[in-house]
Amino acid sequence: MTLPAGIPTELYIDGRWSPAANGATLAVINPATGETLTSVSDAQPEDGARALQAAHAAQPQWARTSSRERAEILRRAFDGIMSRAEEFALLMTLEMGKPLVEARAEVAYGAEFLRWFSEQAAHVTGRYSIAPDGKSRLMVVKRPVGPCLLITPWNFPLAMATRKVAPAIAAGCTIVLKPAALTPLTALLFTQVMEEAGLPAGVLNVIPTSRAGAVTGPLLKDSRLRKLSFTGSTEVGRKLIAAAADQVLRVSMELGGNAPFIVFEDADIAAAVDGAMLAKLRNGGESCVAANRFLVHRSVVEQFTAALIDRIQECEVGPGDKLGVTVGPLVDEPSRSKVVELVDSARAEGATVALGGNAMPGAGYFYEPTVLTNVPVTARILQEEIFGPVAPIVTFDTEEEAVRLANSTPFGLVCFAYTRDINRGLRLVEELETGMLGLNTGVVSNPAAPFGGVKQSGIGREGGREGIDEYLETVYVGIADPHV
Ligand code: NAP
Repeated sequence: MTLPAGIPTELYIDGRWSPAANGATLAVINPATGETLTSVSDAQPEDGARALQAAHAAQPQWARTSSRERAEILRRAFDGIMSRAEEFALLMTLEMGKPLVEARAEVAYGAEFLRWFSEQAAHVTGRYSIAPDGKSRLMVVKRPVGPCLLITPWNFPLAMATRKVAPAIAAGCTIVLKPAALTPLTALLFTQVMEEAGLPAGVLNVIPTSRAGAVTGPLLKDSRLRKLSFTGSTEVGRKLIAAAADQVLRVSMELGGNAPFIVFEDADIAAAVDGAMLAKLRNGGESCVAANRFLVHRSVVEQFTAALIDRIQECEVGPGDKLGVTVGPLVDEPSRSKVVELVDSARAEGATVALGGNAMPGAGYFYEPTVLTNVPVTARILQEEIFGPVAPIVTFDTEEEAVRLANSTPFGLVCFAYTRDINRGLRLVEELETGMLGLNTGVVSNPAAPFGGVKQSGIGREGGREGIDEYLETVYVGIADPHV
């Protein structure tokens, strides 16, 4: 399929579409074919500076708009995305590779952040109280943090942008958005929808670039910027936290994961396999919440593995826009090489390849859906994010061992656990080191829920009632006793 007509390809700064300062462009590649889809303007440091200048200039007026007005812009943008749902879905399939059916699901999920935060915008309140000593009065007021730099990854090109932009707008913040270089088109189409929804000039500025560090580095040092919100790898997040320390910026970090998927001996195995298919193969495994380690009780490991292999064999791997395809390509060659390397090292460390295990020949960056058994707990593939369609299976004997294995990483984004024992489920809530737990479900993402991790998986939450707090400052006003 070809690229839908009329997709914007220029930078969006201060309410105008414009080329990069030096006219540079960057190519957008279709990972299913390796071919160039189109080129977009490639922002330079001067463009980054213009974007921050626009965001800074627009901030005071934007902060004074009524929350109802901001809510209505978000609501119109929700309708705008849904009315162009098929265009967004096709665009994501073409530039990122996910199957069309999953791209459609992302459109619904991504748009929902706009509707959710349109509903939250009007519910930001402060409080007034009388201090416990009965004398002074305490007033607590919320106000927008100020201009924000939002940096997003390529794996969910729409949802990762709306999950940040919607609460920032609801709170009254202005924005510089830097989408991933691999998937700028979805962010640019989303920007067009925001413009059509009536967002004033300067509130949202969007700068795709192939020079992420050179363009965003100076912004982090600029005192006009007040916040950084980043979704991406822990490696880059760590550097950005350090860079944000100079200006003591507010930071929100949605970083990498290493999710355990635990199947206890009392689990409903059919349900666990259904959940495993989603937790492992949604987005081809290129998801921060992808199951990275299957921990399965010894008494059910054979049954679970056989059923999982049967289900995976039904998957069709191919270009995401082909009817019936359920697993698309990986996003680029370095991503595929990393999967090849991890599977090869698991083999060398003693794992058995029960299914798949190879990069697929021909055009595009395809990798066979793979199941590894007898994976030693020390294997490298269990320590790193696989970001591909590979399921390593490890056995355990006791609940205590499962919890210890689950917690034995520096990450803590999400865990999945299947058990019919409610007390065990509640023990897991208390014992697993995680920001999110999927109990008898393989999907946790929900715009109404606080998404985020603990340990090296991040700082802060996106979505839910918590999401807007990331973009609000708390101001306390002490007031003298009015009776004296
Ligand atoms: P990445 O390499 O860390 O890149 C993420 C974003 O940061 C991209 O826009 C990238 O730009 C930009 N970036 C890279 N280096 C930078 C620098 N020095 N300064 C400023 N920006 C920089 O991650 P990715 O490969 O795109 O995404 C996969 C990772 O994201 C995985 O680790 C996954 O777990 C994580 N993730 C986490 C969540 C969550 O909610 N916790 C959600 C989705 C993904 P370029 O595109 O130019 O490289």
